[in-house]
Amino acid sequence: MKKPADIAKFLKDRGLRVSLQKLEIARHVLGVHRHFTAEEIFKEVNAEFTRVSRATVFNVLNLFVEHGLLKTVRARSDVLLYDSNTEEHDHVVIAETGKIFDVQLPEKEKQSLLKSVWAKNPHLPKRATASVVVHV
Ligand SMILES: [Zn+2]
Repeated sequence: MKKPADIAKFLKDRGLRVSLQKLEIARHVLGVHRHFTAEEIFKEVNAEFTRVSRATVFNVLNLFVEHGLLKTVRARSDVLLYDSNTEEHDHVVIAETGKIFDVQLPEKEKQSLLKSVWAKNPHLPKRATASVVVHV
């Protein structure tokens, strides 16, 4: 969903107000697969378009998360990342650059990895949808 008309319809269908800012932010984050911070989107949007505040960028990204268009990823401790791939998947993070890649670990191996971590650390929360982040 990258076309402004599709995004406008999506917003309207959910009773959300359509604004130029929302459409512009959507153009940067939807329909292309990427991981990003709110700050990166703030800079991109303002580099080529009318001024959009940090608060608006943050609010619109969170609105998109709320409506399942994006999800958040806790793959780095320094920043909150947003992910335009909303399917269940795992990540590999390059330690030096913080660059993040999607990977699909085989479910059986992933569950066995998580089980061994939980067995050694019983205090950790056990979530059915835990994802794995590998730092290299
Ligand atoms: Zn991802």
